[in-house]
Amino acid sequence: MTQSFDPHARLEQLRDAIRHHEERYYIHDDPEVSDEEFDKLLHELERLEAEYPDLVTPDSPTQRVAGRAVEGFATVEHLAPMLSLDNAYTEQELRAFDERVRRGAGAGDAPVAYVAELKIDGLSLALTYENGKLLRGATRGDGTRGEDVTTNVRTIRAIPLSLRNGPAGRLEARGEVYLPRANFERINREMEDAGETPYANARNTAAGTMRNLSPALVAKRGLGAFIYQLVADHGPAQAGHSGNQRLADAGAPRTHSDTLRALAAWGLPVERHWRRCENVDEVAAFCAEWADKRQTLEFETDGVVIKVDDLALRDKLGTTAKFPRWATAFKFPAQQATTTLKAIEVNVGRTGAVTPYAVLEPVKLAGSTIGMATLHNAEDVARKDLRPGDRVLIEKGGDVIPKVVKAILPHPEGLPRSDPWQMPTTCPECGSALHRDEEEVVWRCENLSCPARIRRSMEHFASRGAMNIEGLGASLVDQLIEQGLVHDYADLYHLAADQLENLVVAPKEPRSERAVPRKLGKVGRNVIQELERSKSNDLWRLLFALGIRHVGEKAAATLARHFRSMDRVMSASVEELQTALEIGPVVADSVRAFASEPVNQQLVEKLSKAGVKMTTDLSEPTAEPVGPLTGKTFVLTGTLESMTREAATELLERLGAKVAGSVSKKTSVVVCGSDAGSKLEKARQLGVETWDEQQFRANIIKD
Ligand SMILES: [Zn+2]
Repeated sequence: MTQSFDPHARLEQLRDAIRHHEERYYIHDDPEVSDEEFDKLLHELERLEAEYPDLVTPDSPTQRVAGRAVEGFATVEHLAPMLSLDNAYTEQELRAFDERVRRGAGAGDAPVAYVAELKIDGLSLALTYENGKLLRGATRGDGTRGEDVTTNVRTIRAIPLSLRNGPAGRLEARGEVYLPRANFERINREMEDAGETPYANARNTAAGTMRNLSPALVAKRGLGAFIYQLVADHGPAQAGHSGNQRLADAGAPRTHSDTLRALAAWGLPVERHWRRCENVDEVAAFCAEWADKRQTLEFETDGVVIKVDDLALRDKLGTTAKFPRWATAFKFPAQQATTTLKAIEVNVGRTGAVTPYAVLEPVKLAGSTIGMATLHNAEDVARKDLRPGDRVLIEKGGDVIPKVVKAILPHPEGLPRSDPWQMPTTCPECGSALHRDEEEVVWRCENLSCPARIRRSMEHFASRGAMNIEGLGASLVDQLIEQGLVHDYADLYHLAADQLENLVVAPKEPRSERAVPRKLGKVGRNVIQELERSKSNDLWRLLFALGIRHVGEKAAATLARHFRSMDRVMSASVEELQTALEIGPVVADSVRAFASEPVNQQLVEKLSKAGVKMTTDLSEPTAEPVGPLTGKTFVLTGTLESMTREAATELLERLGAKVAGSVSKKTSVVVCGSDAGSKLEKARQLGVETWDEQQFRANIIKD
């Protein structure tokens, strides 16, 4: 290294270059360098910063992920209220909005110019920059107060940590965080591979991600962002102003179009399809154009936001109690289609759950061909009285899988209806009788050797959360079973490399014409290596992978910690099992039933002989943690909006509480998210205290 090397200058250079390429990639979708070249810059920066730790700045691209989980989100107040927008659903309503604006403007028949922007179907966000540096990111919350999600916002690569030539002082830039379609599909593929239920739509996934307590997870999701509003700081917040009075002093934008250009020039992500429209006709044309074209975008949009372009006129128009008078949101019509319901079939899951789905005459909807739709459960089919042969209305919202809205009656072609659909009484795969627990709406095939269940179980065994055997997905599992190479989990460990290399696998659901059946080759060798590696997995993974009913990841870890070896788990009585912290009677019974079954005993023996590890390295259970909630038992049920159930559990446990899976008299509190079902009922019956999510947040997170 020469004398003249100036680390400071090189660091600056690298940071500027990295930000430039981030912008090209994440905002303009037009990279100038390859991923490798970009990584090289990033690595050089990391190395240099490691060497000169004093020169690390908070806005360095290496500082995006804080890496530590946060305890909860603090509440922050917005500079000015984040108002929602009035909606227009038809062109007529759009023209009525224009009438009101022109009347308010006193413009007579003279047209008013608008800016039309695509409405991003995501989560609203307010970014605060101070002297050009990102200070804070907050969710919309109730409009006045939101949650401080800065650590998560920093992980979004489209959002600059510092502005390029931004104005001095404090400013708030507002926009929307969203999950790009491609990332949403990738996440769902991963969920499916892991045997988990995929997310229904990108918007909720983005919202859930933003409110996740782990910035590392947020970074991995790959959120995008668009900014569309500027609010400058000028003393106490005023409702409904155009948001530019402070900057106006400094020769700042006088129109919304100029604002968008300024935001983009500072390096903020601005959605590029916005258009200035000279009158309402042009606005209507823009809305009509994008109602179709939106399928080509890489993000979900559910409408067009129309704003008066002249900021002075905005101030004149002001707001109502709820909405600004100078803007409206045109909602695209719901995407629906009609087709014929060819059949109602059922699908058998790993636990034997049998659920109906609709087989449709393929129809084009929202840019894709739809041949299947979800039907939830037998009761849903009965309630909608759907019958094979019906013409049906299907709808696709932001959800991946379209749903059947209703049957169109009478049949448009006057065809007679078939008899009401009946849930089959036997399993379509193995023919055994289906059963339904009294409390459940789900019908099940109870046959453990049911081929459908075995296929799904095998997928679960290999999934990321269980034995984590990469490459052993649904199509390979199907082939292995079909060709008789594998009958149970243990057989997997007797596969030879050449058997797998020469195996021909057809893609399960061909996504393109290139997806043709092919020999596994090298992939097969990798699977063998993965299998070999999985032998040394900890006992808890194996316990979870076996698919014992009611034994999730957490119960598996508890059993492993407490009993230390498979032998001891298999030989424990129901009473002994319950001596483990948090193992209740339901899990204990289920483990005992599994262990008593000779087939399962042989299976475990076979796995052990194959060299699969039967012990744990987890630490022994320590004395109960002491915290403000020590001695209390919580049960979580339903979906929490603001955090995952895992995050909530972790939080409670850190405070000393036990988190149990079922409600009993000993339960202290049941926390009920949306769609809380039987557990909420049970809590009410037993007189156990229940909290909704708001109470949970107020009492536990204290925001
Ligand atoms: Zn079956």
